[in-house]
Amino acid sequence: MSSPLIIALDHASLDAALPLVDQLDPRRCRLKVGKELFVRSGPQALKTLHQRGFDVFLDLKFHDIPNTVAAAVHAAADHGVWMVNVHASGGRQMMQAARDVLVQNRLATHLIAVTVLTSMDDTALFETGVTRTAGEQALHLAELARESGMDGVVCSAREAGDVAKQCGNAFLRVTPGIRPAFAQRNDQSRVMTPLEAMQVGSTHLVIGRPVTRASDPMAALAAIEQELSAARE
Ligand code: C5P
Repeated sequence: MSSPLIIALDHASLDAALPLVDQLDPRRCRLKVGKELFVRSGPQALKTLHQRGFDVFLDLKFHDIPNTVAAAVHAAADHGVWMVNVHASGGRQMMQAARDVLVQNRLATHLIAVTVLTSMDDTALFETGVTRTAGEQALHLAELARESGMDGVVCSAREAGDVAKQCGNAFLRVTPGIRPAFAQRNDQSRVMTPLEAMQVGSTHLVIGRPVTRASDPMAALAAIEQELSAARE
């Protein structure tokens, strides 16, 4: 499955997500399960999505002591998820422990790290003791994530090109904040279209409401695919 599209199931429960899931095609997108859906519906949600043929990105952004994070990443990989993530700010040892547990158990789950949450601006970051700008800090953490054996990062599409330059093209750049021309911006302030985001260096696009709240989700997906394929012609 080579589609770069990951649809964010920001639903309150598996029951609430299934009507949408049943309209989507696992050959054309992957699915992201976040905290709310997982806390309510748990591993059963992963099992159900896997049974329907979807690759799942389990977006729980683990951040804890190395042993605890490694165990949680191991548990996620045992569920067969395609991708799982941790916070790069948890540090080198935490990321290495998470990577090592996957390698030792021959688990193929992709492990990526969140750099700086896009909800954090320079001021909010400064309050936590970080004196770099958010952009500088994101690049700094991307490099630490690469050195610690991560497969890539979650970052803003604005940083994807610099991350590719610094960490290499094989290092994944998973980017949210995507708004196709046909969609509303909702609460995302700095957005890019799918085509722009791919052109500036994203490898995967996380897309929520433009598809999940569309009256016809498969038509929205098709419109995004059309935009991306038009650029390849
Ligand atoms: O609906 P929308 O396309 O804005 O959803 C984007 C998804 O990406 C949501 O699941 C949101 O939590 C997630 N996300 C984000 N910005 C980040 C990190 C994750 O929008 N920096």
